[in-house]
Amino acid sequence: MERAATDIVVVLEAGAAPAVAEGVVARLRGYGFEVHRPIGRMGDRGELTVLSAVGAPPDFDIRHVRVLDGVKDVFRVTSPYKLAARVWHPEDSVVDVDGVPVGGPEVVVMAGPCAVESEEQIDAAAAAVARSGARVLRGGAFKPRTSPYAFQGLGVEGLRLLREAGDRHGLKVVTEALRSSQLEVVARYAHMIQIGARNMQNFPLLTEAGRTGLPVLLKRGMSATVEEWLMSAEYVMAEGNSGVVLCERGIRTFETATRNTLDLAAVAVVKQRSHLPVFVDPSHGVGLRDKVTPLARAAIAVGADGLLVEAHPDPPAALSDGPQSLYLSDFAEMMDQVRRIAAAVGRTVAPALEEDERVAAAA
Ligand code: PEP
Ligand code: MN
Repeated sequence: MERAATDIVVVLEAGAAPAVAEGVVARLRGYGFEVHRPIGRMGDRGELTVLSAVGAPPDFDIRHVRVLDGVKDVFRVTSPYKLAARVWHPEDSVVDVDGVPVGGPEVVVMAGPCAVESEEQIDAAAAAVARSGARVLRGGAFKPRTSPYAFQGLGVEGLRLLREAGDRHGLKVVTEALRSSQLEVVARYAHMIQIGARNMQNFPLLTEAGRTGLPVLLKRGMSATVEEWLMSAEYVMAEGNSGVVLCERGIRTFETATRNTLDLAAVAVVKQRSHLPVFVDPSHGVGLRDKVTPLARAAIAVGADGLLVEAHPDPPAALSDGPQSLYLSDFAEMMDQVRRIAAAVGRTVAPALEEDERVAAAA
């Protein structure tokens, strides 16, 4: 960490007077940079002077340089995130979700309904997804709904039902905390805390989630850049919690044929820039049931470490996100297909098991 710093390249205006250039250099030194100059002269007639400036603090705002007299352009060379960056940690991180390794050779699938609705519903979902090879049961107890009149989740009762269903079927559980005051109760029931897309830049929530010490599933904000997403991971990690799993869930674009635009290119980009495991949520990413399985296959092909998938025993009757939820039989088929794609890219998926085998394996 001692080498984490802001390093920049500064291009001066064509024909900048020596006094102006000196002024820029003095300001750079004042900000804590060590300045090397000129590293080159470029431009059509070789009239641009280029400086390199290294070693300012990692949080330095390069706009201070961009607005200086005589500066034509500035480029940041180092990333503003450090703990999440692969340059500081070349090996892939494996996040331990209460004994389930995420980010290793096994592609991990977390599945279940959008929201916990009843004991029967969550139990049926848990039984089916476990049988098909999911390792973690998802289900919201506190739901971030666009409308305040929509079902908001069962709250603590939902957490209890989720955990009981998980335990009964040998699954770990992941669920969302919407605000800091819910973290304590969520942490009592969950093995992993989900931070939703709408909260990706809720910095106090990220900090508090980091402090729980539980692994965090950090969804990408629907209009967040890759860099902003990684800076949010940095917030969790800055609390000494390295258990962050990133989850691409679709971003807002001009396209209206799908609910969101699933940015699978970002998965490839983030896998290169960060050592953290990266998941894909094709359910929110596309928003339409019949497109979920094809996108799940593509996610594994592009290098995702796992999937977060909505599956419901009766999607047309679901209280939230029914149209994008897989029928439990579709989920089994998706898992078979994903298993074949995983094998093609040198990875595995937990096998589909019969109930008694699985309970024995979990014991
Ligand atoms: C969810 O997983 O049900 C959810 C609300 O996801 P997102 O935060 O990605 O919208
Ligand atoms: Mn949902």
